[in-house]
Amino acid sequence: MSSDKSPVKTICPYCGVGCGIQVMEGDEPGDMRFVPWGDAPVNEGSICIKGGAATEVVDHEDRLTDPLIKEDGEFREATWEEAFDLIVSEMERIREAYGPDGMGFFGSSKTMNEENYLIQKLARRYGTNQVDNCTRMCHASTVWALRTSLGMGAMTNSMADLREAADVFWIQGANPGEQHPIANSQYFRQAVLEGATVVQVDPHANKTTRSFDIEETDRHMHLQLTPGTDIPLLNVVLKTILENHEEHPEEGWLDEAFIEDRTEGFEHLKETLADFDREAAAEECGVPLSDIERAAETYAMADNAAIFTGMGMSQHACGVDNVQNEINLALITGNVGRPGTGVNPLRGQNNVQGTCDVGAMPNVLPGYQLVDDDEARESVEDVWGFEVPDEPGLTNVEISHAIGDSVFGLYVMGENPIMSEPDGNATERRFREDLEFLCVQDIFLTETAELADVVLPATTWAERDGTVTNTDRRVQRMRGVHKVHENTRHDLDILCEVGTRLFGEGFDFDGPEDVFEELREVCPIMHGMTYDRLGEEGIHWPCYEPGDEGDQYLYEDAFETENGLGNIEGVVHQEPEETPDEEYPLVLTTARLEEHYNTGTMSRRSPTLSRQHPENFVDVHPNDAERYGIEDGDYVKLKSRRGEITVRADVTEDIKEGVVWTTPHFAAASANRLTNDVLDERAKIPEYKAAAAEIEVGVEPADDAAGDD
Ligand code: SF4
Repeated sequence: MSSDKSPVKTICPYCGVGCGIQVMEGDEPGDMRFVPWGDAPVNEGSICIKGGAATEVVDHEDRLTDPLIKEDGEFREATWEEAFDLIVSEMERIREAYGPDGMGFFGSSKTMNEENYLIQKLARRYGTNQVDNCTRMCHASTVWALRTSLGMGAMTNSMADLREAADVFWIQGANPGEQHPIANSQYFRQAVLEGATVVQVDPHANKTTRSFDIEETDRHMHLQLTPGTDIPLLNVVLKTILENHEEHPEEGWLDEAFIEDRTEGFEHLKETLADFDREAAAEECGVPLSDIERAAETYAMADNAAIFTGMGMSQHACGVDNVQNEINLALITGNVGRPGTGVNPLRGQNNVQGTCDVGAMPNVLPGYQLVDDDEARESVEDVWGFEVPDEPGLTNVEISHAIGDSVFGLYVMGENPIMSEPDGNATERRFREDLEFLCVQDIFLTETAELADVVLPATTWAERDGTVTNTDRRVQRMRGVHKVHENTRHDLDILCEVGTRLFGEGFDFDGPEDVFEELREVCPIMHGMTYDRLGEEGIHWPCYEPGDEGDQYLYEDAFETENGLGNIEGVVHQEPEETPDEEYPLVLTTARLEEHYNTGTMSRRSPTLSRQHPENFVDVHPNDAERYGIEDGDYVKLKSRRGEITVRADVTEDIKEGVVWTTPHFAAASANRLTNDVLDERAKIPEYKAAAAEIEVGVEPADDAAGDD
């Protein structure tokens, strides 16, 4: 924690790009402003609208300043002593009544590695593996596919090596122009200006599309597919490559040596595609076959081609298979294991990568060591001094589904599941009616905190120290300025206090660096890092030993699978669980906006960010608008089988006919009142990206159009 008033170097609290920024404190508590950090390692001083406005929420009038306890349905201010007493007695009561799996714990990718390390340790000391975080909502399927097929659940490459070496960027189901703006402007767009080509695969024409509309280049193609048809589209690409290689083996469509030496499963892929009909599949995708063929050739003929994958791929009930098909494409063309290649998820929140890395997931301990791997678990138990359950716990959506059946208490740090989980109306009902105890620690009274029995006021990103891990595995230090509100506490200190009161020992740490020292002891991929070594540049994991510099790209010689081979596996098309019918004839898909962030807890309170999009809206194609009689700007009711929201219609050709598109940022009008909570069988990620929907016209704007309940 800085003790003077010089600018403090830290990391933007919003997206996973991990841009460095500086915070300058004024004379009064809470008087602070953003200052550029010119030689920040990731962004070199550039910043998007969110990073520049991040300090606006630190001294917001809605900040929680004292603990709250609910009595007779109303909150009253409480002392920390009262709050801790209530938490300890309720957690002990629930364990006594229902066993340790009667509680669930939610870590947060808005908080730091040290804090997430502590909440997963707290859950496991309590006796349960039921700890999870919002990666379940964004990239659980990506992490699953990458970990099982290549070995590590993270970007194979780093932004810097990609910018320097990639000739082709294949961006599927991601909108970096809106959601990772500095990655888009500083890395992808810059590379295109220098000669690279972008293939964008997305149902929506968006800021990414427009950012590559560069005069005198045609090095951008947009395959605007129907939502939920990513597997058939990639199968057309794969079969095009296989057939061309058969006809013209001298052209190098496939990398036969790479397939032979470094992979297994190629025969399975060929069998899967043997009777695959490319023409029919292209029609199902709604994309001309010739366009897909051209994209396939562009990727296959590149010296170095890199795939970027986003939530348009991962947030499906077939999310693991979607990403597996991207892995198939990279492996058969030998595009893994060197600069400018790989399969690279663009991670959402600024520490969603780190939250997974440090073990805040129900199936893995720090460093992705499986809880049911006896040797790995015992090595962690040796350091912790207690036994860890050897069965994976429920994921966060499963925990939510189990409320009232097997889960009766929840400890939520910095997440807002009422808004972030699918089928939000049902989620809210379960939280409201069936939960016996809910503890929330946060900076604002979120929609979830409103339902809590006890609310703990935490400090913001700008007020504390710790580390976060960005989308390309770079672990970076965050540094805090002085606390704005005296009676708030750091998440880390709160967890230490709860742990010590519950268990007596194991949670007595002298600040974040002390926690980091224990983390690196149990987390092999971070073992070589120290706060001193991280400095201002950070280090990419894996960094196994103190001398290691960290790896810019993975798998140069072998994959981190059991036999060292990359796994190719053919996959077949699976329709979304809900497809259009007479009652709900439209496909609803969802995504985020540049100016807002996830559940909007911070961005809706930022004057700069909420100015451009003060309320939710739905994109409707002009032909659909004409059919329904909708004029641009009309308010409509958007309905699914799970709920309805009132939103303004934006009539635009950005979206395909028959598809509607809206956002999750605004509470009463959130897309998640409508989304489907069906899960991918393995990764348990919900199908946010495709649901059946209907529009009702002739409605008035809702009183709470801004989204604040
Ligand atoms: Fe922050 Fe992401 Fe914008 Fe960088 S690109 S300033 S990390 S929101």
